[in-house]
Amino acid sequence: MHAPSPIKRRLSRQIHVGNVAVGGDAPISVQSMTNTNTLDVDATVGQIQQLEKAGADIVRVSVPDMDAAAAFGKIKQRVDVPLVADIHFDYKIALRVAELGVDCLRINPGNIGREDRVRAVVSAARHHGIPIRIGVNAGSLEKDLQKKYGEPTPAALVESAMRHIDHLDRLDFQEFKVSVKASDVFMAVAAYRDLATRIEQPLHLGITEAGGLRSGTVKSSIGLGMLLMDGIGDTIRVSLAADPVEEIKVGFDMLKSLRLRAKGINFIACPSCSRQNFDVISTMNQLEERLEDVMTPLDVSVIGCVVNGPGEAKETDIGLTGGSPANLVYIDGKPASKLRNDHLVDDLEKLIRDKVRQKEQQQENMIARSV
Ligand code: SF4
Repeated sequence: MHAPSPIKRRLSRQIHVGNVAVGGDAPISVQSMTNTNTLDVDATVGQIQQLEKAGADIVRVSVPDMDAAAAFGKIKQRVDVPLVADIHFDYKIALRVAELGVDCLRINPGNIGREDRVRAVVSAARHHGIPIRIGVNAGSLEKDLQKKYGEPTPAALVESAMRHIDHLDRLDFQEFKVSVKASDVFMAVAAYRDLATRIEQPLHLGITEAGGLRSGTVKSSIGLGMLLMDGIGDTIRVSLAADPVEEIKVGFDMLKSLRLRAKGINFIACPSCSRQNFDVISTMNQLEERLEDVMTPLDVSVIGCVVNGPGEAKETDIGLTGGSPANLVYIDGKPASKLRNDHLVDDLEKLIRDKVRQKEQQQENMIARSV
């Protein structure tokens, strides 16, 4: 029920990672990376499927050597979501995974080495129609740039990126996206802002090695939030020392907060206080867990009393306002029914699922009418 996002996105050139468009007017994609051993095909496939279930648009897999490249080929055959192979140092791995059906190559032309090797990778990417991500990272800047700048700086990150971009430019290859990641929020934000004015290619945003679930979420939200508010960013990866599924959830929550993407339920809940007429925190946690499978966008407010309940309910698809002896449920902003505290979560879940089905049906009818 909320208005569209007021953010005006930087218009970038569009590329495709498998069937996922990145850049241009495509929705900002959310990606993560497996942390299983790539040689363990079953475990890696299992984790990719979990990520896909959580809504991942793209998944990256580390391919450190030729054995991992062979495993990558088997993994690729068993999953649907587009896969990016993360490759360093050995250009032959890039050539191999290109043959095995990779959807994007993440390389650092700087550590792939000689010009002829980069040329071989680019020509394989061109031949197979695969884009490249140039992934610059403050922790692995080229030695000469470290020497020139003394320490990683935004200018050093951008110079490194532009060096790689010029490399691809000389080879007349434009199907790429770029990241300039740093664990320091100020550095990453300044580097991305600068880079965004220099190139037309899509930008992959990330605050690298952001931290654990809570601290990394906060750091990433601040860094990526500033950039996204500027309209910068075409695909995001939240780096957390946590289950990669959490990265996907946090990524979508960020985009939902800025109304850049709608997926699943957007909850509005009060922090609760002594005025609450039902246990807001427990109700909220249970609903969030039970309704994780819902992909249809829906706004739901869960508010403990009449101070803010009716106001919030007017802006949501379903709104619960705590009351005594019963709580009031609003549907589409209008009072609809009363729910008692016993079975509150069960009853509310049912109402939400009914509304989801109704929305899905409306969408199906609209599609049917338009064909
Ligand atoms: S909406 Fe009511 S219960 Fe919730 S925090 Fe405010 S006053 Fe407390």
